Amino acid sequence: MRQGFFIDLNDTYAQIYGFTKKELIGQPFSILVPENQLPLIQELNARIMNGEYVPETLYSSKRKDGTYILIAAKFKILHLSDKEKVLVTSIRDVTEEERTKQLLDDIQKMAVLGGWELNLVTQEVLQTKIAKEIHEFLDHEVMLYEEALTFYPEGEAREHVKKVIEIASTSGSSFDFESPFLTHRKKEKFVRVQGKVDLIDGKPYRIFGFIQDITEKRLQKQALEQLNQQLLEQTKILQLSNEELEKFAYVASHDLQEPLRMVSSFLTQLERKYKDQLDDKAREYIHYAVDGSKRMKKIIMDLLGFSRVGKNFEEPELVDLQEVIEEVLLLQKKLIEETEAKITFDKLPVIKTIKIPVFQIFTNLINNAMKYRKPGEVPILHIGYQEKAKEHEFSVQDNGIGIDSVYFEKIFSLFQRLHKKDEFEGQGIGLAIVKKLIELMGGTIWVESTKGEGSTFYFSLPK
Ligand code: ADP
Repeated sequence: MRQGFFIDLNDTYAQIYGFTKKELIGQPFSILVPENQLPLIQELNARIMNGEYVPETLYSSKRKDGTYILIAAKFKILHLSDKEKVLVTSIRDVTEEERTKQLLDDIQKMAVLGGWELNLVTQEVLQTKIAKEIHEFLDHEVMLYEEALTFYPEGEAREHVKKVIEIASTSGSSFDFESPFLTHRKKEKFVRVQGKVDLIDGKPYRIFGFIQDITEKRLQKQALEQLNQQLLEQTKILQLSNEELEKFAYVASHDLQEPLRMVSSFLTQLERKYKDQLDDKAREYIHYAVDGSKRMKKIIMDLLGFSRVGKNFEEPELVDLQEVIEEVLLLQKKLIEETEAKITFDKLPVIKTIKIPVFQIFTNLINNAMKYRKPGEVPILHIGYQEKAKEHEFSVQDNGIGIDSVYFEKIFSLFQRLHKKDEFEGQGIGLAIVKKLIELMGGTIWVESTKGEGSTFYFSLPK
């Protein structure tokens, strides 16, 4: 008989490789072996034939259809006579099993999940490779039974773990805790441990479970918590300073009115009583002073108004924007007729919001769109609407004088104007109020514009 050829085999053996029994008998064993595995198999065969003990061995094999499978094989030598011996091999297809094992391995690695078992009777400790890695043991190092608790820092952490296990030990229930952790090599970590105590006759005999390294997650959580805390503190400071500012604006504007009234009234009296004694120059000065105090009064009133914006917001309700715009246009009728403005609009929605501020916003934006028109040109306005995922977006577009992009932010600040009074009448407070109203309702406002061509003011309101 030639060495390395099949003498006999059963159907199952042939089927594993996709052959029939008939097809394989008489064939060399090597037809089932991928080329790169051949030297390994030959060496293995030689060792077995020499009488050496070879435990169950895994190797890859080739099937009839060219696919590869993983085989677990056990070997035995049968001595037919003194001279003649045959190699008997029994095999299992472990491809699926190995793949599942590999998958489990990968998942455990990914989750940094290690398995462990403490036998309370024999005091033996079992740890998977990853459990060892988490504890920072080298491959050849093993954890001693009495060491098990020492990885939890002395004090609060260790006492907690002891207690948790104690409770589980009396009831045989499972436990789950997160704890600071100190590895064998004294590195600080954070772990989650989940386990169960098995009882026999009411007595605990083994604890087993998993340990997961959650240091990274914990650090991220801590950073997030810290950030949240900082944000909360900042918001509080901001809130306080906002309240202070509002109080200041209110008090200042309220208290300033009285002395201002005195200034202007005494100036007026001075002018009246000493009219004949005053020369033209003096009268002119008094006129400027009175005018100044009037303007100051207007500013103070605006400031007072601004500080009160949003104070009396009503509850949100369903508001038909189409109706709001019609009311705004009615109020602006005079200016529309004077300028012969042409106004178009998209189909506007019904949304849940607060009507009065929305009315104020549109009034302001539409009024500005006509006010800042190009001399000699008819204002053309378009009121737009777009529904976004989380908000309603509105726009007021004009063909007016436009705004230089360097002023896109500035125009929304209090008392910021780009023009002199004699060019365009105004206080520079409208857009600041609009911005405050929109932001109080949770929205934002911004502008897009090209100087000389026109502007579009956009604002969003949350859904
Ligand atoms: P006011 O109109 O009283 O000056 P606003 O706060 O409404 O105050 O506007 C601030 C500035 O923004 C205005 O002075 C003007 O320069 C500019 N502005 C506002 N709306 C427009 C617009 N539609 N087109 C061009 N410029 C505008």
